[in-house]
Amino acid sequence: MTSSGVQPEISELEAWLDANAEAIDTGQALAPEILPWLGRAGVFRVGVPAAAGGAGGSIGDAIEAVAKVAEHSLAAAFVFWGQRTFIEYVLQSPNLALRKRWLDALLSGELAGATGLSNAMKYLSNIEPLQMKAQSLGNGQWTLDGSLPWITNLRPQAFVAALAFDHAAEQGDMAPSIFAITHDANGVTRSEDLDLIALRASNTAALQVRGTVVDESSLITADAPTWLAHVRPAFLGLQCGMSVGLARRSLAVVGESGAATRAAVADEARQIAADLDALTHRLKEGVQTGIFVAAPAALFEIRIALAALVQAAIGLEVQVSGGRGYLRGQGGTARRAREAAFVPIITPSLVQLKNQLALHRKAQAA
Ligand SMILES: Cc1cc2nc3c(=O)[nH]c(=O)nc-3n(C[C@H](O)[C@H](O)[C@H](O)COP(=O)(O)OP(=O)(O)OC[C@H]3O[C@@H](n4cnc5c(N)ncnc54)[C@H](O)[C@@H]3O)c2cc1C
Repeated sequence: MTSSGVQPEISELEAWLDANAEAIDTGQALAPEILPWLGRAGVFRVGVPAAAGGAGGSIGDAIEAVAKVAEHSLAAAFVFWGQRTFIEYVLQSPNLALRKRWLDALLSGELAGATGLSNAMKYLSNIEPLQMKAQSLGNGQWTLDGSLPWITNLRPQAFVAALAFDHAAEQGDMAPSIFAITHDANGVTRSEDLDLIALRASNTAALQVRGTVVDESSLITADAPTWLAHVRPAFLGLQCGMSVGLARRSLAVVGESGAATRAAVADEARQIAADLDALTHRLKEGVQTGIFVAAPAALFEIRIALAALVQAAIGLEVQVSGGRGYLRGQGGTARRAREAAFVPIITPSLVQLKNQLALHRKAQAA
């Protein structure tokens, strides 16, 4: 399945997801079970060095693992993305104490890692200011305040979240920092799960931080812009894995339809499959070689093109499924159509990326 063949045994996980994908999408009852299932299947260890407790392999293998889960449930794949991206933050943080403290529990799925960095990614693109503030107390301590409207994988049982903070004006022009905040820190409040139209078991909630005191041991990075630019390819690459898996599953459903139906859309399906393979290859190669750190526009283009392929693939699935696809509990077409609606709005959203690319082209032309 992958270049290095590093994949855990996930057939049991796949069977569980297939049996429960509708319930995971439409209800919250299975929210506590998703992370443990993913952890038991070993998927969080893919692409993590063996010396750090992982299964080895590359970030490309991790992207494939996200895609594999997304073929069965996009909500589970999004939880996977949050957890695996947080693991990447820990691996790429200069603060080595974070590894010692949390990596084992994150890799096993015992502790949930949440990535609340949409606001920071938008900040990096000059779209909005940071919504969280840090006030220095001296001696390497800070008081943190602010709130974020959306964070996934905030398991009520226990979580640690990565959040970006702007420093108070008296700190001069100090770069924003990213801190890891635990669920039980003083002043941390998680809302009820948000009332989503889909992906309802993803433990998505708002988070408030009021007067939380942290020290350097919670610092992921003291230079958020530079660090985020380095971690963004993994952040986005793993996220693109969700699109890859969803599009593959829709194409598989098209391939399983009756001969006459299949023949009517064969050319379109073949083209989408070829484009999907080519983009997936470019994505994994670019993330692995690191070229997207200095050339993010190339990665933005892949994210936009993959989102278009998801829409095209689910469009074909809807066509071949006919009226059956409009009935509840009949093969997942309606669920995948809802899941696909999420793809354009995940940060960095398509609107945001299209704007960025337009600015990039303007700068190149000047
Ligand atoms: C189910 C769910 C789970 C989520 N989980 C997480 C999570 O785990 N972590 C996390 O950090 N976030 C999460 N989010 C937030 C998500 O990633 C996006 O930030 C959010 O959906 C974008 O919408 P908005 O309401 O902030 O956009 P708005 O700010 O209302 O903007 C609307 C659209 O325009 C774009 N836009 C706005 N201003 C500009 C501009 N100046 N230039 C270009 N484009 C612009 C935005 O990107 C967006 O596409 C989640 C959202 C959902 C729905």
